[in-house]
Amino acid sequence: IWADVLGYVRKNISEVEYHTWFAPVKNLGVQEGSLVLGVRNSFAQEWFRKHYLELLEDALRSLGAQNPQVSFQVLPAVQEAMILPQDPPPAPPPARSGPGPRQAPAAFPAENRKSLNPKYTFENFVVGPNNNLAHAAALAVAESPGKAYNPLFIYGDVGLGKTHLMHAVGHYITERFPEKRIEYVSTESFTNDLINAIRDDKMTQFRNRYRSVDLLLVDDIQFLAGKERTQEEFFHTFNALYENHKQIILSSDRPPKDIQTLEGRLRSRFEWGLITDIQSPEYETRVAILKMNAEHNRIDIPQEVLELIARQVTSNIRELEGALMRVVAFSSLNSVPFSRAVAAKALSNVFAPQEIKVEMMDVLRATAAHFNMPPDVVRGSGRVREVVVPRQVAMYLIRELTSHSLPEIGQFFGRDHSTVMHAVSKVTEQLGRDAELTASVDALRRQMQAVDDPE
Ligand code: ADP
Ligand code: MG
Repeated sequence: IWADVLGYVRKNISEVEYHTWFAPVKNLGVQEGSLVLGVRNSFAQEWFRKHYLELLEDALRSLGAQNPQVSFQVLPAVQEAMILPQDPPPAPPPARSGPGPRQAPAAFPAENRKSLNPKYTFENFVVGPNNNLAHAAALAVAESPGKAYNPLFIYGDVGLGKTHLMHAVGHYITERFPEKRIEYVSTESFTNDLINAIRDDKMTQFRNRYRSVDLLLVDDIQFLAGKERTQEEFFHTFNALYENHKQIILSSDRPPKDIQTLEGRLRSRFEWGLITDIQSPEYETRVAILKMNAEHNRIDIPQEVLELIARQVTSNIRELEGALMRVVAFSSLNSVPFSRAVAAKALSNVFAPQEIKVEMMDVLRATAAHFNMPPDVVRGSGRVREVVVPRQVAMYLIRELTSHSLPEIGQFFGRDHSTVMHAVSKVTEQLGRDAELTASVDALRRQMQAVDDPE
């Protein structure tokens, strides 16, 4: 029946989704009337419960089941053990000596993988509202290189997963189309290669190398700014690949229009395909990333400790991972089990307790949830009391718990600073008088500051 279930599922979701989520699933048979499916990690388990449980039940129903039940079980990791527990270093350093043979780390078997970090796969990429568009675009490109969006341009601040996504496309294509040639290069090493090629009179090799690939990944393209000769050469590389329907993926810390001194003809080409951004992850995504990281590294760490870390490190995923490692190192050096107190201590050198960061979005979300309302509505322009009170509470708490200025808070809510000021004084005035409001503010404050009194 599993094949029938898969057939049903396949008809109801996109090919990309199917391949990402269903292809790796193992059918573990029927136990106590429930179809048991093996998934790779607890993240996948949660994802299935949230997104595919109903679909699977429908599938069983369509096959005649009266009261279909599906459960998920995390499979023991087999393959991942090859890569972890220790993370490999990030992508190898840029080649210094032009197109000559580059040292390929022994761990990457295929030629294509020589410059791909084995950790940077789609499976290891946690999808959240901050990155789901970039993720979907990357998957679409991986699925049909050269056909979906060309070029794909991903931009966002440092440490948010641009390089990870590019490599993920590389891995995916390597697996599914082993005959395709893939080149990943930072803009810096593209530039160095070009300089060396000019110096050594090896332009032909240089051009062959970059123009004969099926997938070209160029990271941090903002560094093309001001480099005229590199821009010229990249322009021709781009055209050669594009005309042959070869996929190009570019990353940058800003959109093409904001890259200064970029030739117009390059800028317009960068805008031909799809431009998508990655934002800072919200709290839930940060927890999910930490969870996945801990699992991959076989670290058994309580959820509440992960939550504490996720509250402290808010902007950058690289730092988030660093904080986790710091906590792990601290507790193993001191031979103490993980706890919130230990974690708070481990991070106290990096983040003073009073600096505990609570982002505006987190406060808005918590407040909206507390009042049973979608965050967008609370942030929106509605003027009825049911919306105005939560909005004022959110403004008040943001003012109290973060270091954002009144104009910044105003901007976040699409209003001016005097509205925020009014909200803050309104709530201040009501505190102590309005029992319900006071209870709400207290509960939310405690929730947001859950880190403050470990143990
Ligand atoms: P960027 O290229 O945008 O500076 P990276 O791709 O180097 O950022 O990501 C920084 C670190 O964060 C990497 O270790 C990467 O694996 C991790 N990371 C980023 N986004 C995610 C995500 N959505 N899920 C899991 N790990 C992520
Ligand atoms: Mg990067």
